Amino acid sequence: MKMNKTFGLAAAVISLWLGGLSAPVQADPEPNSPPAASADAIAPCADCASLLLAQNGSGSNSRSRKAGKPMKKQTAGRERLGDLAPKFAELNDDVLFGEVWSREEQLSPRDRSLITIAALFSAGLYPQLKSHLQIGKAHGISKSEAVEAVTQLAFYCGWPKAWSTFPLIREVYGDEGNGNVSAPEYLSAFPIGQKNDAYAQYFIGQSYLAPLTTEQVPVFNVTFEPGCRNNWHIHHAKSGGGQMLICVSGRGWYQEWGKEPQELHPGDVVNIPAGVKHWHGAAKDSWFQHLALEVPGVEGKNEWCEPVDDAAYSKLP
Ligand code: MN
Repeated sequence: MKMNKTFGLAAAVISLWLGGLSAPVQADPEPNSPPAASADAIAPCADCASLLLAQNGSGSNSRSRKAGKPMKKQTAGRERLGDLAPKFAELNDDVLFGEVWSREEQLSPRDRSLITIAALFSAGLYPQLKSHLQIGKAHGISKSEAVEAVTQLAFYCGWPKAWSTFPLIREVYGDEGNGNVSAPEYLSAFPIGQKNDAYAQYFIGQSYLAPLTTEQVPVFNVTFEPGCRNNWHIHHAKSGGGQMLICVSGRGWYQEWGKEPQELHPGDVVNIPAGVKHWHGAAKDSWFQHLALEVPGVEGKNEWCEPVDDAAYSKLP
């Protein structure tokens, strides 16, 4: 496992990338431990699909395996119905979950959650719908996105169904706003990594950091919770240097000092020259994830500046 071997270098490289010599080195006693799973937070439900989370996203995500995620086989069908309906249990565990939900390259878990929610909403199957709202939350669907989906579905499937579903959303998401929520289990094919606590002083909100490689061009996957952004900062270098961002999930922002903010979506690429003061982060209502590439340079270091003005940020859509 390339990442395992190189992980020892990761903290030092992260230090350079994030804050230069003045920043603390992130201690990571268990570099290969999986990201905090949200499965434990899911209440049991009669719908065996609710235990999909126990499978930790899916069975076939090679990057998840790289990141050390455990591979659990779906067993809910057999556990709950194996004695009564063994064939159904087998199809549930091995085919629906093992062979269909797990095909992340064909359709992401988040998209699978959205269409499943729509189907269950249409059929008025509320216990299963609640389970899949929980799964959808773990797959990165925000509270505001769930509300938006139900608002639209109400026109196609029936107004009363929306009245029945909004309380379920309230139950699943609680009173949480768009901040301070646990990281979704799935945002992209790249691992979310660990909480970026060592650099919290340079961020507003919670970010997560996953080193993808520390060889050749170091690449990190950075995940921002809704509303999270880093402070204004400058990537300094005597020559070369700078940073590249490759957006992979959600919606976010990038802004250079003196310029208008630039909205970011998956597929967008940002080239940040050395010496340019800037910030990057999530939109206020969306998780956001970008790969950060450290462009090789001479005597690279970061200078952290003031936080992004709250009033200006909150005006961004
Ligand atoms: Mn930067």
